[in-house]
Amino acid sequence: MTTHVPDSDPAPAGPAERSSTAAQALAAAGDHESAKDVGALDEALTGAAKKLGAVSKSLVERLIYESAPEVSELQSGARMARQLTNVGQPIVDAAVACMLRGEAFESDGKLSQALRSAVTHEKAYGFTVPVSFGGAGASYPDLAVTEEALSANGLGALAVEISGELTIGAGSLLGYGTDDQKKTFLPMIAEGRLMAFGLTEVRIGVNAKKVRAYVEETEDGNFCLHAAGDRNKLWITNATHGALVGLVARVGRDGKRVGLFIIELPEADVSESDGLGYTFRCEPSGVEAFGANFNSRIHFENYPIPKGNQIQADGVEVLFYCLRMGRCMLAAMAAGYQRMLARDSSTYAIQRVGVGGPVIKHELPRLAIAKMLGGALQSRALSHLALQQDLDGVDLAGLRDLTKSAAASTAMESMIACERVLGGRSFDKGSRVSDARSNIHVFGVVEGEDDLILMGMVKDITGSFVETYMAGMLGVIQSINMKSNGDPVAREDRILKIGPATIFRYPGRCLLATMRLLATSSFWRLVAWIGRNALLELLRLPGRLIPTAWIPRYNCLPKGMRGLARYAERKLRGRRWTYLGINLFFQLELTRAQIPLQRFGKSIEHLTSMLVLCHHASVNDVSEQAVAQLQAQLIKDKFRGIRILSSMFELQRTRDMVAEVAQTVEKDACSLLNDIEPEPYAHPWDSE
Ligand SMILES: Cc1cc2nc3c(=O)[nH]c(=O)nc-3n(C[C@H](O)[C@H](O)[C@H](O)COP(=O)(O)OP(=O)(O)OC[C@H]3O[C@@H](n4cnc5c(N)ncnc54)[C@H](O)[C@@H]3O)c2cc1C
Repeated sequence: MTTHVPDSDPAPAGPAERSSTAAQALAAAGDHESAKDVGALDEALTGAAKKLGAVSKSLVERLIYESAPEVSELQSGARMARQLTNVGQPIVDAAVACMLRGEAFESDGKLSQALRSAVTHEKAYGFTVPVSFGGAGASYPDLAVTEEALSANGLGALAVEISGELTIGAGSLLGYGTDDQKKTFLPMIAEGRLMAFGLTEVRIGVNAKKVRAYVEETEDGNFCLHAAGDRNKLWITNATHGALVGLVARVGRDGKRVGLFIIELPEADVSESDGLGYTFRCEPSGVEAFGANFNSRIHFENYPIPKGNQIQADGVEVLFYCLRMGRCMLAAMAAGYQRMLARDSSTYAIQRVGVGGPVIKHELPRLAIAKMLGGALQSRALSHLALQQDLDGVDLAGLRDLTKSAAASTAMESMIACERVLGGRSFDKGSRVSDARSNIHVFGVVEGEDDLILMGMVKDITGSFVETYMAGMLGVIQSINMKSNGDPVAREDRILKIGPATIFRYPGRCLLATMRLLATSSFWRLVAWIGRNALLELLRLPGRLIPTAWIPRYNCLPKGMRGLARYAERKLRGRRWTYLGINLFFQLELTRAQIPLQRFGKSIEHLTSMLVLCHHASVNDVSEQAVAQLQAQLIKDKFRGIRILSSMFELQRTRDMVAEVAQTVEKDACSLLNDIEPEPYAHPWDSE
């Protein structure tokens, strides 16, 4: 059954005004394929940012490039959370009660209909949908607290389902839907109808703008969807017969625009023999993660879509717009999961007698338990701050990404820590710890793969610095890779980096580059920036001798955390030099240097986490403060293990070694891989 939404004026997605600096740098480095892909993704990201219309610069960017933000801003997430009234508690209570009755899961481990009915009664599926559309009208922070509580109580799968429903599902309608689309679909969602977001395909994963499912306009102005074979939508969470799906598809088989269409999936598969003129299949995608949820591969051929069901925006832009909340919810779930792991492992450690007494008496299991609690608090603190920043109109660039990455990686570390304490029982089939394993694992992959989003974060938060101060230098290097007739020089003669070796090999071109550089205004802007910032550092230097206790900024923090917060702020400020150093060292080669960029991103993740943890815990109870202090110290240790500027040449050697190993793998010349036949992977695309 397809509901027709009245048509409204289409407002086609606008084309890119000009390509991003990152895309230009990639093109200049001769990597045109990446330049095109990155440019297209940046365009969608810029569209989402415009739609959000932030009124303040990103917190992470300010921590690096400007003076430290007000303490009240750093504590705003924790203060907001303290004022929440737990409006989602009835949902948690209903779900837990259902679980205690043994009715929450079917015999195959899937979420049961009884559980869904129980929480639908409490408006779980319409929790953040406005009351005017039949929802509960709650806020995203309320949702985060509810998601955390569900995950902490062994109902992570339900949290996953509701998060998908309300962030990338209802969120896309709320953000981009017309009034008619909202009136039609939001009440369905509020009544408990599942909604999915379908972007990934059998052939297309992280390169979202390359989707190949497409719609064609029919004579009556409606659409016909083609998503057969390797155009099938894959791993779509919440997609099941009868559900709604926001489906990303190209407009026209080879069209440039990527649209978004709301589809009501039929109640059953449709084959040619049904004579409806189209085919449809929805089958389990066969993944272990999100195993208690619906996760499907969906096929459509000739499938009719009413024209009123088109969301008037770029499909990938809508995804980016919604992902900011999706990532906060993922962090909230990670917090809940880690609290659950800490609860089960600490109870075990108290009761279980190990070598020389109860397990809890020993330092290593204690550290493991503290890590689980620390990871939970870190995830919660980051997620609450990001949610408050979003409400305050602050650009979430940086924070939304590191929040997700930190939450996913601490959850993985906590899982291992839990296994160290719980031992063999952590693998017990049917235990909630075991059930959580693959979900926790997949958190690093869904909603953006962690390393990729960290590299994207670096691009976002350094974008204005690069554009203002570095673009000239990169442009000069680009210019010497062009012949006088405008053609590019041969690939083997391309210069990506001017260093002693290139000066020796191409003295003329390097001299030309130097002269051009001296003539660019952005070079002199960079020189002035360096002078100004070096002077500031010099003036700050004596301040380093002032004891932290005397600095009013840190007085609001518990004693043990003051030094840690100060350290994090100082090191974050120092990242501006690290980034400058990376740029000067790698120059255009930086477009390929993923290892230093990822390390740089990780170091920002660690430092921001330390700072946020200290401020979050400072407004909470002493037990949280103890957890935060230890976690901040442990993060500091990790941060110190990441060396970038001090080991640039070693880093380059590591990159060379990586390249060498990868080359042997690419050529199938690595003897360690001899005599092993690769297993065919699931959902092959080249055979279809
Ligand atoms: C349980 C589960 C639920 C999911 N739910 C949904 C959903 O609801 N809706 C939806 O649309 N999708 C969903 N996905 C898909 C998920 O978002 C994708 O798995 C993800 O986008 C990655 O795509 P891929 O797995 O095909 O990886 P690929 O695109 O095949 O990439 C493989 C690896 O290569 C890396 N890589 C690729 N390019 C680069 C590069 N330039 N530099 C460095 N590394 C690179 C990637 O990071 C990745 O780790 C789900 C997946 C799973 C497993």
